[in-house]
Amino acid sequence: MTSASRPTTKTAVLAAAADTSPVAAGPVAARPRLALPAGVLPFQLNWPYIIVISAYHGAALLAFMPGYFSWSGLIVAILGTHLCGLFGINLCYHRLLTHRGLKCPKWLEHSMVVVAMSCLQETPARWVAIHRRHHQFSDEQPDPHSPLASFFWAHVGWILVHQPELARLGIYERYAKDILRDRFYVALERHGWLVWINLIQMPLFFGAGFAAAWLSGETTAAAMQTGLSIMMFGVFVRTVLVWHITWAVNSVTHLWGYRSYETDEDSRNNIIVGLISNGEGWHNNHHADPRSARHGLRWWEMDNTWLTIRFLAWIGLATDVVAPSAHLAGRRAGARLITRGSNGVPAE
Ligand SMILES: [Zn+2]
Ligand SMILES: [Zn+2]
Repeated sequence: MTSASRPTTKTAVLAAAADTSPVAAGPVAARPRLALPAGVLPFQLNWPYIIVISAYHGAALLAFMPGYFSWSGLIVAILGTHLCGLFGINLCYHRLLTHRGLKCPKWLEHSMVVVAMSCLQETPARWVAIHRRHHQFSDEQPDPHSPLASFFWAHVGWILVHQPELARLGIYERYAKDILRDRFYVALERHGWLVWINLIQMPLFFGAGFAAAWLSGETTAAAMQTGLSIMMFGVFVRTVLVWHITWAVNSVTHLWGYRSYETDEDSRNNIIVGLISNGEGWHNNHHADPRSARHGLRWWEMDNTWLTIRFLAWIGLATDVVAPSAHLAGRRAGARLITRGSNGVPAE
């Protein structure tokens, strides 16, 4: 298997000085299309995911119809998208759990995991395992979601079919052993909490919307309609928006944008994705230096997740924050970076 012969370095390293060949950054269309990961058959569909993802998109569209739409609902969706995406997915699942770029008190880490799970993006162990595999084989065939196979595949297609390599239990052993040392995360795997958290939040959003409207003097019928609107926007619109932002990091930022580092995969810094994702779109910076908790490096590379981590550190709720690598800062211009082979986590 190809993985057996891969280097097992734990950090991105500068390639040998002799290797100064530029990484091909030209149009991806000129390249041969990357094969889908081993064992993937395009029509072995993952029906539960297809049904849920379709239903959420349908409900999100319905939220904009008369009878469901409200401006307060839209505000809840936008705020919820940024807060849940930033704390749950970016800060917790990605920078903290996957790359160990910081530490937080367990109560805070676990709370942020619950927020991440409310975005319906897998359990922590599975999300981490898939993402570490992405770093290790980025834009090569075993990458679970490379856009060099196709844009649609990288954006959502990879979730809609069975991927035998991701279904094997060995993926946890190989990529998420550290996560499953925490009994809280083992419990989340075992008892269907991903489903429960996503079901429980529906009446919570409805109840909050209903209570706020009723207490402000609306009739019971009007308050019920407000509650329904808050639920539609707070759950379905928000989840769909966070999905597409996360998916755009997988698809868009391996296709379009500029490259600050000549990494050996196709990662890019994409301004639009960087801004809407609160910092995850500076993806070339991230692949070059995966453990760093800071992804936006230049002054215009706004990284709200990094600013939040700095704030948490300032009030004592984040420690061991991994700063950008000094090794990278002093690199020779144009030097090629080998980032594949590392799954972006510290050696144990
Ligand atoms: Zn990537
Ligand atoms: Zn990463």
